[in-house]
Amino acid sequence: MQKADAPAETLIIEDDEPPSGRLVLKSFYPSPVADFGPVSRKRHTFIVPVKTRPIKGLAKTTPKTRAFIKKYFPQASTRDWHDWQWQVRNRVRTYEKLNQILPLCPEELLADKASQLPLGITPYYLSLFSDSTPEHPLRRSVVPTVNEWIKMPCESDDPLGEDHQSPVPGLVHRYPDRVLFLLLDFCSTYCRYCTRSRVVGHGGILASRARWEKAIEYIRNTPTIRDVLLSGGDPLTLSNDRLEWVLSRLRQIPHVQIIRIGTKVPAVLPQRITPALVKMLKQYHPLWLSLHFTHPDECTPETHKACTMLADAGIPLGSQTVLLKGINDSVETMTDLMHKLMKMRVRPYYLYQCDPITGSGHFRTTIHQGLDIIRGMRGFTTGYAVPTYVVDAPGGGGKIPLMPDYVCGHTTEDLMLTNYENKPFTYPDPVQAMPVQG
Ligand code: SF4
Repeated sequence: MQKADAPAETLIIEDDEPPSGRLVLKSFYPSPVADFGPVSRKRHTFIVPVKTRPIKGLAKTTPKTRAFIKKYFPQASTRDWHDWQWQVRNRVRTYEKLNQILPLCPEELLADKASQLPLGITPYYLSLFSDSTPEHPLRRSVVPTVNEWIKMPCESDDPLGEDHQSPVPGLVHRYPDRVLFLLLDFCSTYCRYCTRSRVVGHGGILASRARWEKAIEYIRNTPTIRDVLLSGGDPLTLSNDRLEWVLSRLRQIPHVQIIRIGTKVPAVLPQRITPALVKMLKQYHPLWLSLHFTHPDECTPETHKACTMLADAGIPLGSQTVLLKGINDSVETMTDLMHKLMKMRVRPYYLYQCDPITGSGHFRTTIHQGLDIIRGMRGFTTGYAVPTYVVDAPGGGGKIPLMPDYVCGHTTEDLMLTNYENKPFTYPDPVQAMPVQG
């Protein structure tokens, strides 16, 4: 990133990204992002496109993706495709456009106007399933169907009761020592099972400096908060300047020990992970990233490169996955996903039972199925590869871990257990005599 003491005459903004948007800015006027008090003092008056140079360091694309670009985005250059802002600008937002690329089935076509969550899919993510049938797991997770119309009695728009635990708009303070700070409500790609579909994509949680200042003030005035989780929407869809504005201010608060960012960008918009972003993020350690992954098909060469860049910057990477019916609800799929994440140096962290949000019934499995998946993984693969299966308690009770029961009894001398192969074992665990009263 251009630093404040760099020559002012020739500055590169957008953190030398995206490639196709590389602009040389010359001047002495405030930057268009100056209302956010950019950390670096960037100035410009006019824009001069930089001549294109040989492309170095871009992620490999698969033959399938290259065929997709040629067919549906023939005007896009290689630089465009690897430019995260081009991906955001060209995301598919209408059923008409989607239907031109991916012939929709009746259940998908009829979903138009039915959902409270907007449609949005990056060209990159769409390229992963453009030739698919309606059952394709990635398609099911981002293309709406009429099932979103069906509301079950157990469902609500805010099942986790976040709106009642919000001392400042966009800040959720549920646990004593940590807060959830929703920076914006925008995502490059919208997941149909999103827990925050009541707010995401609706323009109600804006990336506004005034709101952010109130939230930061609350954090500053609450010394018990040692951990801030930045979420949304997707925080990594903010420009580097805006994100750094928040990170730098949080880092000035002595009691904030760690900062975490929740994002699905490496899966749906891996082009966003640029050298400039990583260079900026690593200045704010200890910084952790929770990466949202759904299915092994998301683990592409592009995503691998993005995770490698983040891991090389010393950022611990953990995964979050929602258990989804017909998408990832088998031992084989879940194990494959966790193995692929580990190869990308992402530590499997949480497997969430799907929250009962309005219109999500077609996504929810039973708890029994979730436990069976964990039982089918524990002992059969690396312990690190087994995520913690949790239910986020409706009403705001927080995450409750669930484990298959390996205890089958207790005698006065022994605890009776079964191992992962369902073989019986005993462990010496004598029942303690009760202390004599009086
Ligand atoms: S990326 Fe996260 S916040 Fe955005 S739609 Fe998906 S689940 Fe919701």
